[in-house]
Amino acid sequence: MKNSVTGFPRIGKNRELKFITEKYFKKEISFDELYEGAKNIRLEHIKLQKEKGIDFIPSNDFSFYDNMLDMAQLLNAIPERFRKSLSTDHEIYFAMARGHQDNNTDLKALSMKKWFNTNYHYIVPEIEDSADIRLTGTKPFDEYTEAKDAGFDTKPVIIGPFTFLKLCKFSGDKNIGDFKDKFLQAYAGILDKFNSLEAEWIQIDEPCLVRDLDSDDISFFISLYEELLGHKGNLKILLQTYFGDIRDCYTEVISLNLDGIGLDLIEGKENLNLIKDHEFPKDKTLFAGVVNGKNIWKNNYGETLETIGRLKQLSCEIVLSTSCSLLHSPFTIENETEIRNDILRYFAFAAEKLNELKDLSRLGDALDYQGDPAFRSNSGDPDSKKAFEHKNVQNAVNSLKENDFTRLPKRSERVVIQKESLCLPLLPTTTIGSFPQTAEVKRNRSEYKKGIIDKETYDKNIFEFIKECIDEQLELDLDVLVHGEFERNDMVEFFGECLEGFIFTKNAWVQSYGTRCVKPPIIFGDIRRRENMTVKYIKYAQSLTDKPVKGMLTGPVTILNWSFPREDISRREIAMQIALAIKEEVNDLEEAGIKVIQIDEAALREKLPIRKADRYSEYLDWAIPAFRLCHSGVKPETQIHTHMCYSEFGDIIKDIDNMDADVISFEASRSTLSILDDLKEAGFETQVGPGVYDIHSPRVPGTDEIKESIHKIIEKINPEQVWVNPDCGLKTRGPEETYKSLKNLTNAAKSVREAL
Ligand code: GLN
Ligand code: ZN
Repeated sequence: MKNSVTGFPRIGKNRELKFITEKYFKKEISFDELYEGAKNIRLEHIKLQKEKGIDFIPSNDFSFYDNMLDMAQLLNAIPERFRKSLSTDHEIYFAMARGHQDNNTDLKALSMKKWFNTNYHYIVPEIEDSADIRLTGTKPFDEYTEAKDAGFDTKPVIIGPFTFLKLCKFSGDKNIGDFKDKFLQAYAGILDKFNSLEAEWIQIDEPCLVRDLDSDDISFFISLYEELLGHKGNLKILLQTYFGDIRDCYTEVISLNLDGIGLDLIEGKENLNLIKDHEFPKDKTLFAGVVNGKNIWKNNYGETLETIGRLKQLSCEIVLSTSCSLLHSPFTIENETEIRNDILRYFAFAAEKLNELKDLSRLGDALDYQGDPAFRSNSGDPDSKKAFEHKNVQNAVNSLKENDFTRLPKRSERVVIQKESLCLPLLPTTTIGSFPQTAEVKRNRSEYKKGIIDKETYDKNIFEFIKECIDEQLELDLDVLVHGEFERNDMVEFFGECLEGFIFTKNAWVQSYGTRCVKPPIIFGDIRRRENMTVKYIKYAQSLTDKPVKGMLTGPVTILNWSFPREDISRREIAMQIALAIKEEVNDLEEAGIKVIQIDEAALREKLPIRKADRYSEYLDWAIPAFRLCHSGVKPETQIHTHMCYSEFGDIIKDIDNMDADVISFEASRSTLSILDDLKEAGFETQVGPGVYDIHSPRVPGTDEIKESIHKIIEKINPEQVWVNPDCGLKTRGPEETYKSLKNLTNAAKSVREAL
């Protein structure tokens, strides 16, 4: 049995690509030097895959920024404004990715969106009416040839026309249909070129096929491929899907003139049923995605070989592959020298997953594998995990009852009680939690981590930062204050470190966008709170003022979504364990006299299942209750806030309202109007603080500009229900711009308030 890798992490074992690219951004090296460095990284990755015994090694999975952007440039889908003001291809490329500013030009970057259900972001190509779509680039051919010259045969990878067109933004009057022929010609050109280069296979990625498709989508897809496959020549075509199953178009896909079909058998379990019910054509190769490309856990060979056994009964050829690109998994466990061996033995990152593919191909061919040492070391959980179990936590989750998720009295009654007890003005002002993380704040943390200062000094410094922050907010005359989050470098890591059950890595970076990587903690065992985590800081902040100070917590769904979850229990169970720990903290804060508590659910929307049919059963049915569990025990006077980092929740507004928070703040400065209409239409009950300015830029918004935003909001929403705040935490901003922006914010709120 052969094996195949769908895509490999491109950032490098030690994030080499990140560092050389950032050097290029800072003009410390030339583009040629960057290109040369990148070439070495590419070839090293191909060599590694070859050494590990991979048969189908991808090329063109590399990118300087993003593969969607690569496709856009390859097909000349470049907005006029970039082409007009910049000359070289790479300048245009990076300007589309990151914007470009100099004396004569000020170009904003193209927008960025989350890539399906991952934490990776792609650049949204923009197609103008005047776009002259044709094959102008050479990247896939260059990288294929580069590998070939170095002695490696690869399988070039491109994003397919259906997915590409579906994810593009059409900025003029024309739409997908108007461009179809041009794109088809350009894609046909790609096939021609690979034919002339004598490539054997090409992998065409079509992840959009795992989304809900209507009949128009399906006929569009079919018409694209019937035409395109007419140009395949001697090239074998692998249509690769991932992140789910292709239930809406399985029969159509298998009847196309393809040579291989790649199915995700991890996130797309339903694919197995489709194969069983409709057969798989014997003249095509099934690329079976059996090694999880997204997680960090070892493959369970026992289970996988059972699946392989079933697939072997099909009369087609089988190639074992990763379920999706390994881009979403960290590079190697070899970098984790500080994790105990009895824990490390559970993990397989990208490089180790290559070994698994090789093992599985070998074991899949063997008649009897039970005695094989590789099989024995990858079958089921060893015992060392027992030490991370807590029966009392498991019992607490098992005995949760309906009323644990219900806060009383109902929100409409709480509004009245809280109005009286909190004495807030109309259009109350607040912030999302963090204040600028200045050099001193960062130094305090790093010196403490390095052992240069002790816990006492560390806390003393934090208390000083808090005092300054409260003084500043009093001077700004904000209504609900915060302590500033100076003890946190990250809203998930901080709580992960305070809770039992998490493992932290040194180098398990995963690309998030461009050169940015994140290092999610690993949920390894049952989660419980050792002791209270935030009370002393918030209590101190509250002692400095009569105005309410918000207690600041991260919610269970966000902690879960921004970690690598364990897989031996359900995500529901993990979320409930975290929720019980957060609930204890909420209760302790209330007990300490804190009247307003914010539980951030920044990442709640992010893991919403791709298919509508799965949204409730697989996610919202436990995610919303997990949040409710955190605050169901508080007094009616205690005001619960939450915060979300996006406003694209138009399709789950009822569920957001069902979180039963008293107040929600969210990003809206760039898309205010549409979400406000949705809220109004849905009769949204929660009080809302749509961000009145964008904190992702150092720009200081003027008072009039903020007044205008507030007016727009209260045109749609009853002013009694509206809060005034920035759209996210201020930790990445500088102190000066923050002070000025907030001063303008409180002045704007006052001025609108008076006029009402
Ligand atoms: N309370 C957090 C902060 O202000 C929220 C961050 C976020 O939404 N990403 O930093
Ligand atoms: Zn946010």
